[in-house]
Amino acid sequence: MNASIQAPVVAVSRIRMATDGKGVTTLVCFHGCPLRCRWCINPFSFAEDTKRDIVTPQKLYDKVKLDELYFLATGGGVTFGGGEPLLYPDFLREFRSICGDAWHLCAETSLSVPWEHVQKAAECIDMFYVDCKDTDPDIYKSYTGKDNALMLSNLQKLVALIGTERIVVRVPLIPDYNTDENRQKSRAVLQGLGVTRFDFFTYKIKKT
Ligand code: SF4
Repeated sequence: MNASIQAPVVAVSRIRMATDGKGVTTLVCFHGCPLRCRWCINPFSFAEDTKRDIVTPQKLYDKVKLDELYFLATGGGVTFGGGEPLLYPDFLREFRSICGDAWHLCAETSLSVPWEHVQKAAECIDMFYVDCKDTDPDIYKSYTGKDNALMLSNLQKLVALIGTERIVVRVPLIPDYNTDENRQKSRAVLQGLGVTRFDFFTYKIKKT
């Protein structure tokens, strides 16, 4: 065990069903995100003044294992979100080595991280939910503040590395930013990268 591996956790939500992974799940939200999405529903996950619990994988495991019977009975486990969980790939790998193979581990990610992080996560995460926003670079940039070339490149490499079954790409309709026509274009681009599993949905926003 490497005691120097730690990550900042901002929320842990237990006994979730059919919301972020199969079976009963515990959602663990990390602090930090490379994007700044206009309609972000978790801005506390990157706000500087958010209270964080700096934990080791063992400490997190000790906290979430009380639901192990639910995980094992339903095929569930832990879903890592945030924020961006792939900012902490060593933490994820260490957590897997502690919890063993029976827990189903998911990651909700933008894939907007260095490829080496994705590679490490692929060793220990069962299911990736990739929030791609939009494949059009201008739409993506105006919505997130970042370029989408890294996300697209990582996605293509991830499909080549682990196949298509462990990857669901979420393609949202984003009010004020894209249209259904844009989404169909995104679908075609993503299929060209090898993606076969999609989740199409519409962001529900409260404009202030
Ligand atoms: S990727 Fe998620 S957490 Fe990060 S800014 Fe966008 S919506 Fe918020």
